[in-house]
Amino acid sequence: MSDCLFCKIAAGQIPSSKVYEDETVYAFYDIDPQAPAHFLVIPKAHIASVAEITPENATVVAHIFAVIAKVTHNLGLESYRVVSNIGEQAGQSVSHLHFHVLGGRDMTWPPG
Ligand code: AMP
Ligand code: ZN
Repeated sequence: MSDCLFCKIAAGQIPSSKVYEDETVYAFYDIDPQAPAHFLVIPKAHIASVAEITPENATVVAHIFAVIAKVTHNLGLESYRVVSNIGEQAGQSVSHLHFHVLGGRDMTWPPG
């Protein structure tokens, strides 16, 4: 999608602090971290949110979770939280599927 911030980040058109990259997935540190470790994992292909995942495009989601397991292990993160906000009320501000990975501090439950 030409006017999508995360499509541009995945394509290298907007700079980001890369954590991981392969053919289908890109991970980068959040510009406004909410924990000592806070990065985002996105599919390179544009999917608007979890609400747009279908049997046809779901393969990348399993891959994203494998990437999360690998990257957190490499960073030495044993405990962390994976979050995806869907829609305005849940706080989604960028309409390109992304999974927040947050760690390095105590977390509360339920989340706000
Ligand atoms: P959400 O609000 O759940 O849609 O998450 C979007 C996240 O993207 C927020 O945590 C922002 O801080 C982060 N963000 C926005 N612009 C950038 C950027 N240029 N580089 C890295 N992270 C960004
Ligand atoms: Zn996009």
